[in-house]
Amino acid sequence: MISIFFSRCCVMLRVDEILRELSIEEKISLCSGYGPWSTKRIERLGVQPVFMSDGPHGPRWMKTSSYTQRSEWDMSSLALFTTKSGYTDLLHPVTNFPSLATLGSSWNRKLMREVGKAIGEECRHLGIGLLLAPGVNIVRHPLCGRAYEYLSEDPVVAGELGAAYIEGVQSTGVGATLKHYVCNNAEFERLTMDSIVEERALREIYLATFERIVKKARPAVVMESYNKVNGTSLAKNRRLLTEILKHEWGFEGVVISDWWAINDRVESFLAGLDLEMPQNPINDELMLKAAVDGSIPVERLDDACRRILTLAVNKGGLVSVETDYDEHHKLARRAAAESIVLLKNTGGVLPLDPDNPGRLAVIGSFAKAPRYQGVGCSIVNPRKLLSPLDEITRVARDVIYAQGYDESSETDEALLSEAREAAHGADTVILFAGLPEEVETETHDREDYGLPKSHIKLIDAVTGACERIVVVLQNGSAVAVQPWIAGVDAVIEAWLGGEAGGGALSDVLFGRVNPSGKLAITFPDKIEDAPGYLNFPGENGKHIYQEGVFVGYRYYEKKEIQTSFPFGYGLSYTDFRYSNLALSSEKITDEDTLVVRFTIENTGDSEGREIAQLYIAPRCSKLKRPSKELKGFEKVSLRPGERKTVCMELLRRDFAYYDEAFEDWVIESGLYTIAVGASSADIRLEAEVEMRSSQTLFTPLTGESYCYNLVSDPVALDAFSRVMVRNGIWPEEVTTEFIEAIRHNFIPLFKSVTRQTGGTVSREEFDGWINEVNNEIFEALKRKSHTCK
Ligand code: BGC
Repeated sequence: MISIFFSRCCVMLRVDEILRELSIEEKISLCSGYGPWSTKRIERLGVQPVFMSDGPHGPRWMKTSSYTQRSEWDMSSLALFTTKSGYTDLLHPVTNFPSLATLGSSWNRKLMREVGKAIGEECRHLGIGLLLAPGVNIVRHPLCGRAYEYLSEDPVVAGELGAAYIEGVQSTGVGATLKHYVCNNAEFERLTMDSIVEERALREIYLATFERIVKKARPAVVMESYNKVNGTSLAKNRRLLTEILKHEWGFEGVVISDWWAINDRVESFLAGLDLEMPQNPINDELMLKAAVDGSIPVERLDDACRRILTLAVNKGGLVSVETDYDEHHKLARRAAAESIVLLKNTGGVLPLDPDNPGRLAVIGSFAKAPRYQGVGCSIVNPRKLLSPLDEITRVARDVIYAQGYDESSETDEALLSEAREAAHGADTVILFAGLPEEVETETHDREDYGLPKSHIKLIDAVTGACERIVVVLQNGSAVAVQPWIAGVDAVIEAWLGGEAGGGALSDVLFGRVNPSGKLAITFPDKIEDAPGYLNFPGENGKHIYQEGVFVGYRYYEKKEIQTSFPFGYGLSYTDFRYSNLALSSEKITDEDTLVVRFTIENTGDSEGREIAQLYIAPRCSKLKRPSKELKGFEKVSLRPGERKTVCMELLRRDFAYYDEAFEDWVIESGLYTIAVGASSADIRLEAEVEMRSSQTLFTPLTGESYCYNLVSDPVALDAFSRVMVRNGIWPEEVTTEFIEAIRHNFIPLFKSVTRQTGGTVSREEFDGWINEVNNEIFEALKRKSHTCK
C-alpha cells in the first residue's frame, strides 16, 4: 500500500515537472494522438508515446507497427471491414481468447482476471501500453451486431466481470480502456444515432456497469462512444463526461474519443474529452486558436495534459517482457470450456464416454472451420487455432464427417443427404450450427434472430436419423432455438470460443470438463418477445429505449413472457442442492450491511461448479420495479458430496432505485425478498428482510398534486387539513369518511378547491396556503438532504 502511494506521488511530481516545462503548442499537441495508435512523444522532456491496440480477445497489433504517422492509416481503417485471413495475416500472431460474450457466461471473476493478465502480458511483449478494451455495453437486444464483444444484459455481471478483466490487464502495467461510454447498444448508424433513455434506466442499467468498474478497477482510460444520449453526442456531453464520470465517480484517467468521433473538438474538450484519437491536425489548429484566445481555460488544458501525461509516464515506452504463449493457449482453452453453456441434455446423452464413444457423425462446416471470433476491430491473428473436428477425432477414432453446408452457409440436396446418411450410421450425431461471421459484425446489426436457413434445414434433415443428436452452437449472441430444439437431445452453446474453443468443446463433450457456464443473456423464443423489439435499432436518427429499466430478464419476468432459456441458466453433469439460507438480520437500516449465507451441496457423482445467484425483490414500491434484480453471484467448485457455505453481502445501493424526482438513489422502507437460485427462473431459497430507511423523502405539494398524494402521507394530510379548515374549505371535522371520499378525487388540488368554492380562491392565494403547508411538512420531517427538485 505504502509503495503504491509512494509511486503515485512520484508520478504526480514527474507529471507536474513536465507540465511546467510544456509550451502551449506542446500542451495542445499532447491532446490528440500521433497516427492511429499512439500518443505523442515529446523528446526534449522524455515523454514517451503510449502505443494502443484494440482487444479484448488479444492484442490486434500490426506486424509493421512502429512510431510513425503513416504506417497503419490504411490498414487500420481496413480492419473494420475486412474479415478474413488476408487481413489477419498482417497482424502479430497472439493468443486468441474467447470473445467477451463467451467469457460472460463463465461468471468467474478469477478467470476474467487471469485472461486480462495474460492479454496484458502479450501487450507488454509487443510494447503496447494501452489496450483499447474491454467493451462492457449492456446487451440490450439480441441482434446488436457487436454483442459478441459485450458481457451481459445485466449491469452486475457486466460490471463485476469487466472490473476483474481490467484488474488483470492493469496488473501487468498495461492500461485498460473501458468502452464504449455509454448507450452504444446497437451498431446501426452508430456514429449519429441518438439513444433516448430515461434517467432512471440510464442510472440503474447503462451507467451502473461503468460506475461499478470505474470505482472498483480504476481503468486508465474511458472511451466515449459515437452515439448521442438524449440529444447530445457523448463526445460533447459535459454531464456524462465531466459531471458524472469525473466528478461524481472520481475518474482520474483519460477520456478518449472513439476513433473519428469528434466533430467540434473545442466543444468536446470543454465538455471533458481529454484525448482525440486518432490524430487530427485540423482540430489541433482549432484547439490552439481557442487556447490562445482564451476560449479554453488554462485549468481545463492543464487538467487534460495532467491526465495524459500520467498515462504517458505510467504506460509510455514500456519495456517488452517475455510471454508464455503455450500457457496462454492452455488458459484460453480452460476459459472457453468454463464458458460453454449446456442448454439441453435429455436423458444424460452427454458426456460421451471417451473410452467408448461409439461411431460419431460430425456434421456441419463449422466443425472444420469454426466460428471462433467476431468481426471488426476485435479481430486478432490466432497463434494456434484448434478445429473441433480435429479435437473430437483426437479422442474418438470412429468419426465420419459430413459438411452439411458450405463455407457460405449454403446447402443443397446432395449435402443434406450426405449428412442424413452419416447420421444413419452413427451412434451419436454432433451437428455444428450457428451464425456466419458476416452477420455478426461491428457497424451492422443482425437482421435475423434465427439460425441460417441452411443450418435449420440440416438439423431437420438429421432429426430422427440417429438416436442421439447433439447440436453445438457457435454464435456471439442469443439465437432462436425454436422449434428445432424439440427434435434434438442435447444442445451445447459453445459461443465464439477463441483459438482453443475446439479443444474446450471436446473437453466438455467427453466429460473432461463438467460444463459450468450460465447464460449472461436471455434467449427469447422469438425476437418479437424481446424488449426493444418495436424500436431496435432506431429510426429517423432516434433509438428510443422504451422499456426503461426493464432490460433482459427484468422485462421477460415483469411481462411473464416464456423464454427458451432464462438469464442465469445452464446445466451441469452433476446436481446441486441449496439449503440453510440465513440472513445476518431480519431488520436492517440503509446504513447496515446484510450478510446472506447459504449452503450448496454437490449431490451428483462428478465434480462440478455451480454459479449461485442472489436476487432482491422489493415487496412494494412507489415506482414500477423489476420483479427481482441480480445483486450478487458466486461460482463454487464442489467435489461429489461436498458442501460449502456461500456468503454474500448486500449494501444500501443494492436496495436502491434511482428516483428522477429526487435526482438520487432512494431506498424505500418495507419488506424485501432475498432470493437465491440457480438461475433467474430457478429460485431455490427465499427469506425476507425489513428495511427501515433513514432517508426522508419530501416532495413539496403544488396545486397540481392530487388528493391521494396527501392521503398517503399523514404529515402532509395533517398540515393541509389544518389550512383547509382554517380557510373554511374543508369541514371543521375531517372524518375518516371524508378522507376516504377525497382519496378517490382525481382532480388536482387547486382545481378541486376552485370547483368546491365556485372559483372564489385565486391561484395566488392558494399557492400561499400551499407554501405554508410545505413549510410545516418540511419542519415536521426535519428535512435533511432529500428534497424533490
Ligand atoms: C471502435 C472501437 C475501437 C476503435 C479503434 C472504433 O471504430 O468502435 O471499439 O477501439 O475503432 O479501432
